[in-house]
Amino acid sequence: MDMEKLLLQQREFFDTDQTKNIDFRISQLKKIKAILKENEDLLYEAIYKDFKKSEFETYTTELSLLYHEIDNFIKNTKKWSKRKKVAAGMVNFPAKSYILAEPLGVTLVIGAWNYPYQLSLLPAITSIAAGNTVILKPSELPVNTSKVMAKLINDNFPENYFHVVEGGVQETKLLLEHRYDKIFFTGSIPVGKIIYQAAAKHLTPVTLELGGKSPTFVLADADLKMTAKRIVWSKFLNAGQTCISPDYVLVDKSIEQAFLDALKMEIEASFENKHKIDENYLQIINTKNFDRLSKLVESGQVYFGGNLDREERFISPTILHNVTFSDEVMKDEIFGPILPVISFDKLEKAISEVKSRPKPLSCYIYSKNRKIIRNLLKTLSFGGGAINDSVMHLTNSKLPFGGVGFSGIGSYHGKAGFDSFTHYKSILDKPFWFEPNIKYAPYSKCKKAIIQWMME
Ligand code: NAD
Repeated sequence: MDMEKLLLQQREFFDTDQTKNIDFRISQLKKIKAILKENEDLLYEAIYKDFKKSEFETYTTELSLLYHEIDNFIKNTKKWSKRKKVAAGMVNFPAKSYILAEPLGVTLVIGAWNYPYQLSLLPAITSIAAGNTVILKPSELPVNTSKVMAKLINDNFPENYFHVVEGGVQETKLLLEHRYDKIFFTGSIPVGKIIYQAAAKHLTPVTLELGGKSPTFVLADADLKMTAKRIVWSKFLNAGQTCISPDYVLVDKSIEQAFLDALKMEIEASFENKHKIDENYLQIINTKNFDRLSKLVESGQVYFGGNLDREERFISPTILHNVTFSDEVMKDEIFGPILPVISFDKLEKAISEVKSRPKPLSCYIYSKNRKIIRNLLKTLSFGGGAINDSVMHLTNSKLPFGGVGFSGIGSYHGKAGFDSFTHYKSILDKPFWFEPNIKYAPYSKCKKAIIQWMME
């Protein structure tokens, strides 16, 4: 694929101003939804082939979110694109001031593999709603989902408007040699740095949706049964291959054993057939990740689970206990179905350990004590999170989704996404009929006093 030609074609098309038309955008969003709906079976089949993701999880964690956001954009694109009047101020009397929502232009979206449809198509759809053209590069690891997205998009949209480029590192590097008006990347921190450097050459704005180790605090007053239920669901969803998954738990020592027992009971109740893959549980994406995760299981003290099957790329829901911050499992983001549990005597000490590490993408707090919750929210910096729940904050499109510090730059979902693909152009609009003389030379004390009166 000639990337330069593709980019040039998209730039030419963008310059026709057709994508700026709201009806055009809405018709494209409707078209994408119809294509996804008509081809759901193909989408389910492809993702099952890649890592045995079930129809249930594919619908609930990928397609339903896409449909919801498409409808949200269809409903709001017109409103969000409207010229927004603001006060002009006395200094500029008799002018008007307004803000124009302007699409950025040609955008590049690079997706991650773990929610292959959602993480590729949602930024792409958002960019389209904001009036841009899109080149989408899905992750190459889930081969079949990448193929099906390329087929559905490239068969139905002209390449000068919305086009999927398949490939891995090599193809991404080629894409990154060129200038875009926006790059939206989802993936790991090391690759995020590569993307940021490539974008910097052209001063291209970026949104970087990265990862990290997201802590979960379980305090002594938490409802343990409900806490275990919500943590087990969110941790082992997608077999732990979720960027906002509770990476590890910090539990008050006084309830450690009761909490471990509650986790065990919950896993046993949720995953009946916990020794092999079934429709409730996914494979690890590839052997490389399986081997990395197996070493983590073997490096710690397994409290529950720990069953490994390399051929099936299966790791059962696993709890590690007696974990310390210096253990192997605490070095990098786990990104698999292993939950380390660290107990603490003093909450302040646990907080300062978290604070000494890079700002996480998410943080979860299980407690009824509003004072402690408020304090944790004030003292810890993280992308987003939940109180007495995990992961579910992502489902509310009114909450901007993104990281801070090492966990990312910028955010999306709903209006936040629309904003990230939009330039807000500020305009002062004046008539010819009036121009006070006070700012013009010759300057005088009196003119300064009037200006001072107006400004202060
Ligand atoms: P990755 O960084 O390996 O790959 C992401 C994309 O970058 C892929 O499309 C890949 O082809 C491309 N890529 C890989 N190496 C490259 C290179 N050297 N040069 C240019 N492009 C390259 O990430 P991944 O393994 O697909 O995803 C896992 C990571 O993504 C985890 O850290 C996870 O936390 C993070 N993640 C974040 C979010 C979020 O919304 N914040 C969502 C999902 C995953």
